[in-house]
Amino acid sequence: MDLIAFPSTEAEFRTRFADEDRCRDYLTRLKWPDGFRCAHCGGRSAYFLRSKRVVYECAGCGHQISVIVGTIFEQSKKPLALWFRAIFEFTASKQGISAAELQRKLDLGSYQTAWTWLHKIRTATVRPDRGPLSGAVEIDESYVGGREPGKPGRAAEKKAITVAAVEKRGRGCGRVRIASSADVSATALLGFIETHLGPGETAHTDGWNGYASLGNKGYQHIVSVISQLDQTAAEVLPRVHLVFSLLKRWILGTHQGSVSLKHLDGYLGEFTFRFNRRRARRITHGAERLLDIAVVTPPRPFRQIVGRSCSPENARIAAQA
Ligand SMILES: [Zn+2]
Repeated sequence: MDLIAFPSTEAEFRTRFADEDRCRDYLTRLKWPDGFRCAHCGGRSAYFLRSKRVVYECAGCGHQISVIVGTIFEQSKKPLALWFRAIFEFTASKQGISAAELQRKLDLGSYQTAWTWLHKIRTATVRPDRGPLSGAVEIDESYVGGREPGKPGRAAEKKAITVAAVEKRGRGCGRVRIASSADVSATALLGFIETHLGPGETAHTDGWNGYASLGNKGYQHIVSVISQLDQTAAEVLPRVHLVFSLLKRWILGTHQGSVSLKHLDGYLGEFTFRFNRRRARRITHGAERLLDIAVVTPPRPFRQIVGRSCSPENARIAAQA
């Protein structure tokens, strides 16, 4: 049982995670909620090696283990307290934070460090064991993210195809899932739906034939053929259209529209995290959830974040971050 409640205000958060020891203790409790257990000998007691900052040594066999291995903090030389503040800033702002803002707030030495951290933090916005959507769900595709204006509709080329599913909850929205998609074929759309919608649930789509096989796959399928109705697509599938318009506005606002397609999935994860927690009352709610995910999210190698063209300059930045 957690004897110490997570801080609920910014002041409490700053006090609670003011230094390295307190942040490491918190990660230690997340990593071993039932107490230390050695992966080699099963021993239950360990010494903290102060000289190694984040490393424990098993009292039984001497095996050493770092509390940040297998987390988004792995290999970072920067203080954990700084990381905790970055996570607070990332989650406390309703709309998110730009790399320039994060650099200024944390007084980070370089813009690139802030940029890299935001990408690492974004990877911890998707809980690996999150459950599928349930009940009735609106599903549609749209084109987002590209800098060049694409052609309208399904013929767009420059922009990325994204698929979204939104739970119907009364007149409002429940949880949302969004992913980029290679195309709008039945194979791609069914792959998305089988990943994000529980078996036997209800999918509400337009008449696009990429959705035609849903009924055969065990889903309840409601089809609204827009051209046969007096209503627009936004009226027939209002929730998923609302989500797409919020997503596009968010990309234009927080990120000035400059979300590159290479990083789109990270931004979609961040948007989804924010949307699904939009009613949270505590300013620290997002930080608590994100830390839970961060300790079970292995880092993506820096080369993977920046893409194949990892210059010596970028490699140097990675070493500092
Ligand atoms: Zn051991």
